[in-house]
Amino acid sequence: MRKPLIAANWKMYKTPDESLAFLREFLPLVKDHTRDDIAIFPTMSSLAYVIGACKDHHVDVGAQTMHWLNEGPYTGQTSPTMLASIGCDHILLGHSERRIYANETDDMVNWKLKAALAHGLVPIVCVGESLEKRQSGLTEAVLRWQISCALNGIKASIPCSITIAYEPVWAIGTGSSATPAQVGEAHQIIRREVAARLGQECADDTRVIYGGSVKPDNIATFMAEEEIDGALVGGASLDPHSFADIVRYKE
Ligand code: PEP
Repeated sequence: MRKPLIAANWKMYKTPDESLAFLREFLPLVKDHTRDDIAIFPTMSSLAYVIGACKDHHVDVGAQTMHWLNEGPYTGQTSPTMLASIGCDHILLGHSERRIYANETDDMVNWKLKAALAHGLVPIVCVGESLEKRQSGLTEAVLRWQISCALNGIKASIPCSITIAYEPVWAIGTGSSATPAQVGEAHQIIRREVAARLGQECADDTRVIYGGSVKPDNIATFMAEEEIDGALVGGASLDPHSFADIVRYKE
């Protein structure tokens, strides 16, 4: 049985003060909510503050990116050891904004995934097709390629700590989400590819979540799909009440 995950990607928003102000409102709203896992991915400058504030609450915290090496002459980078040392437990990998604006390649996603697993960080690997690829009928090919590259050389393990986020590039930050049926179909493709790489048992244990313009008024339709194990939320996670409404969509 896969426990759903509802995660907030704050991208490059919120100073430490703004992050803590968010948590002062948000944490009381979800204090009794244990049905789903909750995770927040703040900016690097807010990370330690958010980890401290969430410590005694059932809210996990992750970084939006990291390097794959432990240390070295790589100005501006943060290593998996450094993240783990401050109590960071999750890591977002291969987000399309990193692939597009920071030239993160499929190989880098694979190296980072291996580093995350070696350091006990729970990885969320983002995959998804552009509008052009979807319109050319290449959605399945893109998803299978990105998953197979990310999982290259990874050994299956149960429980499987890898979460995959299906984030069609055309649905991110556009206000126009994919339909639950489109997402369900993509998640089946992703799970089949995970099964081909890591075996069926591991695939059945892998959480596949959806991201792309998820809001309080559409979360329930996504979560009604058997194949959808949660959501990665960008814009609508910046307001504490909006994100709490997404987490508590069933109440
Ligand atoms: C994201 O950045 O991962 C995302 C899904 O953004 P949004 O919810 O704003 O589309």
